[in-house]
Order: sequence, then structure tokens, then C-alpha cells
Amino acid sequence: MPPTDDAPRPGSPLPDAVLVWFRRDLRLEDHVALARACSRARRVACAFLIDTDILNGLGPGAARRLRLLHAHLAALSGELERLGSGLVVVTGQAVQAIPALAARLSVDAVYCHRDVDPSALARDLDVHRRLTVDGRKLVAFADQSVFDADALLTGSGSPYRVYTPYRRAWQARLASDPGVVAPVTGDPGRLESAASLRQRLTAPPSGGSDLLQLGALQDWPAPRPLRQATLAAEPPARGAARLWIPGAAGARERLAAFGERIRDYDEQRDFPGQPATSGLSVDLRFGTLSIRQAVRFALDHGALTDPYGPAVWLSELIWRDFFFQILRHHPHVVDGAFRPEFDAIRWVDDAVAAPRWAAWQNGLTGYPLVDAGMRELAATGLMHNRVRMVVASFLTKDLGIDWRRGEAWFGEWLLDHELAANNGNWQWAAGTGCDAQPWFRIFNPVTQSERFDAQGRYIRRWVPELADLPDKALHAPWLARPVDLAAAGVTIGRTYPAPIVDHDTARAETMARYKEAVARR
Ligand code: FAD
Repeated sequence: MPPTDDAPRPGSPLPDAVLVWFRRDLRLEDHVALARACSRARRVACAFLIDTDILNGLGPGAARRLRLLHAHLAALSGELERLGSGLVVVTGQAVQAIPALAARLSVDAVYCHRDVDPSALARDLDVHRRLTVDGRKLVAFADQSVFDADALLTGSGSPYRVYTPYRRAWQARLASDPGVVAPVTGDPGRLESAASLRQRLTAPPSGGSDLLQLGALQDWPAPRPLRQATLAAEPPARGAARLWIPGAAGARERLAAFGERIRDYDEQRDFPGQPATSGLSVDLRFGTLSIRQAVRFALDHGALTDPYGPAVWLSELIWRDFFFQILRHHPHVVDGAFRPEFDAIRWVDDAVAAPRWAAWQNGLTGYPLVDAGMRELAATGLMHNRVRMVVASFLTKDLGIDWRRGEAWFGEWLLDHELAANNGNWQWAAGTGCDAQPWFRIFNPVTQSERFDAQGRYIRRWVPELADLPDKALHAPWLARPVDLAAAGVTIGRTYPAPIVDHDTARAETMARYKEAVARR
């Protein structure tokens, strides 16, 4: 790992100039690396790398996420311009581009935030090694989570594997050290002026284009479909959906709007037809909101004193930290089950899987809540948490398809994609993870639908061909009375698919499949 902090030792020289490398932290406020740079160095430059290694790995479903990234970068760049500075934007592979930029800008160090994704850790180590050749270094500060992966350990000194004791330890540590979520600030006067940056960047021998211009997404070195997405409307909070307001200003607005709903969060959050959750996962993922800002907001609303909405919301933020430390300490989860015995599960054959997989991806399984979720994902890049759990359980336990395929599909399409949370939740749903839902507890997609979308508000929005069915018939339309189907213009197998599998049969097959894997342990 690259050095994690360079808190100056007494007597050691402060860096003269620092480059802050922005990645998934696209804000100026409450930004640890920027704040440290602006309190230690005389001159600070800010940069973003259009990383060709990342771009090359993206599937077409990631187009909307790329569009949002571009919008957030434009907002960040505008904020820096208003401070008289600018965002330097370079393109290439990190291991070459960042050291080259550091040399052009004549900085002593590059500051960034640690990212526990194993591929990001490996990349950062490579960049650090390359920088040291020229006497520079990469310093990676903790910012992604409230507590770093090693900050909370069990009594025996090992990382937590179970959420509830982790949450208790997390809350106890916060109570004893509330300063960990205090805002961090530095002196914005240390930001290098745009004129000075331009001079350094255009100086011979390299010269070249104006790196302080973000440019159009169409010009990024990515396949055409990735450059052409438009953004769907922001998920509705109160009132009509509207377009995403990018950047930290949009995040602040979304956070403030959630203040009206946080009290009822505990009672309402499981109903996908209600605009009850915060909708802040995308901001936390791009870092337009810091996790400390979110936690302070929960505390300001009484999360430590009142057991209802704010406390439950805080516990969701703790899940986020929990999965970061799981990924950091158990990087094998990227490719395999947290509990390796479940790597032995025999999923259905490719020939059986192929039509099932296509039906799941396209929202045509014949189970309305599952189909609604998959269509919401395709249309917006998001899906309500309850429905994510249902579709993940359905893929693995009703369709018998490997959870890794579903995880990868979410990874491509989700605007809030976060490797740690996505992997942790998929493994939870598949029953292969830490703190796992026992594998023999299998969600019934019909009763989940009756319970959490009783009036069909969510289903009617995303599966409009069923909209005219009575509420009771919506959840299992193949069982509806012919008279209701006829009145609603629904013909099963023609206007809406028949269920692709029988849940009870699939359930029995899944029990056998998992039992066999456990027996082979
Ligand atoms: P809120 O209910 O307002 O929660 C507040 C915040 O807490 C969220 O923004 C998120 O940062 C965090 N959070 C909430 N639930 C979880 C959870 N179960 N695990 C970890 N963090 C949580 N969340 C992601 O951020 N990225 C993902 O890639 C992701 N993939 C998921 C895959 C599956 C199969 C499932 C079941 C869940 C996944 N989640 C993921 C968790 C959760 O669904 C989303 O965080 C949530 O729906 C985002 O909506 P919100 O911001 O309104 O959440």
C-alpha cells in the first residue's frame, strides 16, 4: 500500500507543492486530502484522470454513470474556477499519467483518498512506486468510510465478520470520539491560480492542449455507446422527478430534502412505491457528499438519542462501512464466495440459464415485482433496496444462476455502483457471504410483492401493461380471474409473460443445490 498519511514529524519539512488527485471524491468541502494539502503546502493543484484502464473495462450499461461523472466533473471544475484555480484533466493510464503530471506541475507529493477496491489499491501502489523514482510520493488518506478497515477490531484483534457487533463497536467508537466526523478544512488561498497552472502545463518541452478544459464527453476515449447516454430524471423525492443537479451543490440539496423524510425512514423505507429513502447513494459513490457530512446529518437529527428514523438511517450508513472493511480484509470476495464452501454450488447448466438470464435482464420473468425492479434499473440506473434484495434472491434461488453474474450486471448498470456494497449485498442475498441470511431462507417474490407493494404503485409504474389489473391480481397475474385479465387487457403469455419458473419447484431445487455444496465441505 502507498503511505497512508504524511502527518509531518516535528522538524521535517512541509511539502512545497501538492497535487490532489480526485477520484471518487468530487467535492471541495470536507475533503481530507484537499484540506491536508491546503494546510501543509504553499501551492496546491487539483486534477482528475480520465483513466483509460477503467474506461476500457466498462460495458454499455455504464453509459449513464459516465454521463453523470462528466456532469459532476463539470461542476467541480466550475467550483475551482470560481476560486480562481481550475481542474487539470488528463487522460491515460494512471501509472504513467499521474507521475508525468506531477513532474510537469513540479509538486513534491500527490495526495488522494484510499480506495479499498483491490484493483485500485494495486494501481495506487504502482503509481506510488513510479513517483518514488523521481523522489515524489503518493499519500492516500482515509476518507471513504468513517472508520478505516483496521480501526475497529474484535476483542481478539481480528476484523469483524458479523454486522451487529460491528455496528455496536462503530457506535461506541463514535460516541467516544465524535471528532472523527468533524468537518475538515484547509486554506483555499493555497490553490494555485489558473494562470499559473496554465503556464506550467503549456511550458516547453511538452506544451500541448489546454488541460484546464474538461471538454465534451463525446471526445473521451471510450466506445461510442458509452459517450452518448442521457441522464434519466432524478428519482422522485417529493413531487415530480427532475433532472439530476450535479456536483456538491446538488448533493447538499438532496441531503436537505431528505430532512423532511428522515423521521419516517424506519417505517417507510421498505416500500418501493414510496419516496422514503435518501437517494444519496449516488452522491456517496461519487463523493459529491462525504460520509462525514451524512453521519453529521443523522446525528443532528437525533440518531444517537432517538431509536426511530435517524437511527435506522445511520445503521444503513454503518452497513456501508461494514462492507468496505469486509472487502479490505477479505479481497477474495471479489472473485468468490466469502465462505469458500459455497464456491462448490452447482448452478444450472448454461443451456437452462441462457433464457432465464435474458428474461431476468429484460424484466420479463413473469413475476411483476422482479420485472419492475429490472426495468427500473435499465431506465434509471437505480433500484429500490427492497427490490434489489428480491431480484438478487430471485436470480440465485429461483433461477439457479451464479450470483457473480447478477453482481456484474448491477456493477455495469448501477449509478451508485460500489464494489464493496454490491458484492456484500449479493453475497448476502445468495447466502454465500458473511453474516449471511441462512441459505435456506428464500424470498418468495409474490409474498414480498403483496407485502411491500400492496397497492402496486411501484409495479404499475414500471410494468404498465399490468396497470389496469386490480391490486390483488397484480402480484401473481397468472392466477388472476379471467374476467379481471380480460378487463385489464392482459393475456398471459402474450401481453405479459407466464412465470418463467414455478417458485415452489425452484425452491426445492435450490435447497438441494445448497445442501449438496455444504455436504461436500
Ligand atoms: P438509504 O436507504 O437512504 O440509505 C442511506 C445510505 O446507506 C445509502 O445511500 C448507502 O450508502 C448506504 N446503504 C444503505 N443500505 C445499504 C446496504 N445494504 N449496504 C451497504 N450500504 C447501504 N448500495 C450501493 O451504494 N452501491 C451498490 O452497488 C449497491 N448494490 C446493492 C446490491 C444489492 C443486491 C442489494 C440488495 C443492495 C445494494 N446496495 C448498494 C445497497 C442499497 O440497496 C443502496 O445503498 C440503496 O438502495 C441506495 O438508496 P438510498 O441512497 O436511498 O439509501
